[in-house]
Amino acid sequence: MNSFTYESPKSLQEATSLLSQQSGVIRPLVGGSDLIDQLRTNRKQADLVMDIKSIPETTSMEFDANGALHLGSAVSCADTYANPTVRSQFTAIAESCELIGSIQIQNRASAGGNVCNSSPSADTIPALLVHDAIAVIASAKGLREIALNEFFTGPGKNVLETGEFLVKLVIPNPSANSASHYLRFIPREEMDIAVAGAASFVTVDSSGTCLQARIALAAVAPTPIRAYEAEKVLTGKIITEDLIDEAGVTAAASAKPISDVRGSADYRKQLVKVLTKRTLQKCLRTLK
Ligand SMILES: Cc1cc2nc3c(=O)[nH]c(=O)nc-3n(C[C@H](O)[C@H](O)[C@H](O)COP(=O)(O)OP(=O)(O)OC[C@H]3O[C@@H](n4cnc5c(N)ncnc54)[C@H](O)[C@@H]3O)c2cc1C
Repeated sequence: MNSFTYESPKSLQEATSLLSQQSGVIRPLVGGSDLIDQLRTNRKQADLVMDIKSIPETTSMEFDANGALHLGSAVSCADTYANPTVRSQFTAIAESCELIGSIQIQNRASAGGNVCNSSPSADTIPALLVHDAIAVIASAKGLREIALNEFFTGPGKNVLETGEFLVKLVIPNPSANSASHYLRFIPREEMDIAVAGAASFVTVDSSGTCLQARIALAAVAPTPIRAYEAEKVLTGKIITEDLIDEAGVTAAASAKPISDVRGSADYRKQLVKVLTKRTLQKCLRTLK
């Protein structure tokens, strides 16, 4: 591990001013559950580690007048899934936070860190994608926003440029009669990385017709992906078991997995089919 400077700015302004003055590699730190190991094993280097847990904008979790969730990038997974409104209105996000590591990891790790680490298998990302999350990014130039759907550029890579960091995720208030769920497959009960994951979000009208469907997948492409074709299978129709089957098959067709020690490409496609079906079935049960 190379030696680095550690700073803990107390405000957004202090953080962005630090970013603008510093040359070299700056690594924001939240829970450190990815970063500390990456630094210790020399998989990542840092000249400055900037702990962002003392910045009010990153540590707050609040709902605006429209009911949108503003999830600070340093809010722990445990605080996120403990919130009753997150559990009931943003269920897939709560479920994904509750799957990360162990209780100890969940008390340190954040969805923000999960997003910025940008692993294709990250659990919170499909859940945030089906909820149409927006990333709010700070730099010395000010704030900018980008749809999370456009945030990921490759395994472990994203649009964040030198001098930028994620302040918060803004997640719109779901319309009435909406439900979301996230499921993943791992070979044991917990403390493992998803072989595949799927999140679904469904909105129906009073007749049960699907007004909106969003499906996102983990660990089956270089980045987390939306399964747009599978979404089209459901939109505008009454969701039946046959349609759910078709959506599962279509989602599997949009997956582009690799074969590795955790599973073959074919196995992962099969998992996508099953997990997509199960998350859609769960959404329908929630909506009843
Ligand atoms: C035992 C164990 C089990 C795990 N299990 C899972 C699991 O089941 N599922 C899963 O998805 N992950 C898992 N992980 C990985 C890790 O816990 C998650 O990715 C976690 O959400 C990272 O959050 P963090 O706050 O600890 O991030 P950190 O480690 O603090 O940061 C992660 C990366 O993002 C950057 N970063 C952090 N915040 C920002 C920001 N605001 N702006 C810009 N860059 C930022 C950091 O510089 C670093 O590169 C596990 C890790 C361990 C050690």
